[in-house]
Amino acid sequence: GPRVGVLALQGDFREHAKVLALLGAEVSLVRRPAELAGIDGLVIPGGESSVMDKLARMFGLAEPLRAAIAGGLPVYGTCAGLIMLADTVLDAIAGQESLGGLDVVVRRNAFGSQNQSFETDLAIPALGDEPVHAVFIRGPVVESVGASATALASLEDGRVVAVEQGNLLGTSFHPEITGEHRFHEYFLGKVRSRANP
Ligand code: GLN
Repeated sequence: GPRVGVLALQGDFREHAKVLALLGAEVSLVRRPAELAGIDGLVIPGGESSVMDKLARMFGLAEPLRAAIAGGLPVYGTCAGLIMLADTVLDAIAGQESLGGLDVVVRRNAFGSQNQSFETDLAIPALGDEPVHAVFIRGPVVESVGASATALASLEDGRVVAVEQGNLLGTSFHPEITGEHRFHEYFLGKVRSRANP
């Protein structure tokens, strides 16, 4: 199967690794720059983006990751992972940086205290007729989608919670913890087409 790395600095990387393995990927955990070699795609998990950013820089991964993204590596980010992929992050902590790549503006912890964590069903035609059950855990919202990116899913109030741009995919929610595999399948489609052009 395709070789997919999971950024394993922090967060729920094990859950992603399990789903990807179930779907037939050869999964490896990425903690240092050398471990980016030979992967056909990368998942950036949920967690805490400010911590993930600090660790990525500390381990010398931030620049190699930016180079990989610029080079067209397929990358799927969930929640904190989406924040890492966003070109612009609002309500970041002081000094927090993202990797960028997705032409979007995201706002961290965008749902009020009552709604920091909630579940809802999303209609996502690109993934089929069955709605996607989405779990939000202090997730970000996509406040604006730039010309290069496309919204894939929105809440009923119109706020965007899933986006893609070429080989990049991001969701505010966590398919890796609900048994929802269609996002990972969709992502593996991008990985396969890049691995076997
Ligand atoms: N609130 C976290 C952050 O800003 C994201 C939460 C998550 O990944 N579940 O990075």
